[in-house]
Amino acid sequence: MANNFLKRHYFLPAFILLLLASTCNNENGVGKKDSTISEKRGGTMSETVSEEDKKWKEILTEEQYMVTRKKGTEAPFTGKYYNSKEKGIYTCICCGNDLFSSETKYESGTGWPSFFSVISQQAIKEEKDVSHGMIRIEVMCSKCGAHLGHLFDDGPPPTMLRYCINSASLNFKKK
Ligand SMILES: [Zn+2]
Repeated sequence: MANNFLKRHYFLPAFILLLLASTCNNENGVGKKDSTISEKRGGTMSETVSEEDKKWKEILTEEQYMVTRKKGTEAPFTGKYYNSKEKGIYTCICCGNDLFSSETKYESGTGWPSFFSVISQQAIKEEKDVSHGMIRIEVMCSKCGAHLGHLFDDGPPPTMLRYCINSASLNFKKK
């Protein structure tokens, strides 16, 4: 303590720099240590998820993370693409998988990007979702499991389907 006290007075700027550098290093160090411990233990479910969560948190924004990895829903009429009429391909924000074509996008009035068809049935996974007191079909990316939105049967012809998708789970490749 006494030593630090002296340093702080004699080398204040240098000490602050050192302190900042060592704080950054500690954060990295702790992360690496955790992952090693988890691997050695064989990893319980929560530790495995938490390691994967860390990876996604690094590459996604807070909203993208909450929607795709925590099955959240963005507020209607707030997303980047609900009103977009540009020609191109919508891909998975997490892994780049091609998901929807602008040619099947339509104005549903819901405030979320809506499509009457998916680019190919292999691009997505569908699962029954009974959360929030409703029975719905959850739509996920088949490659990385990202939550995309839900599938309803009140869409327009020719399919009568409505893929109700969060903008936050999508990226857009202009044609
Ligand atoms: Zn994906």
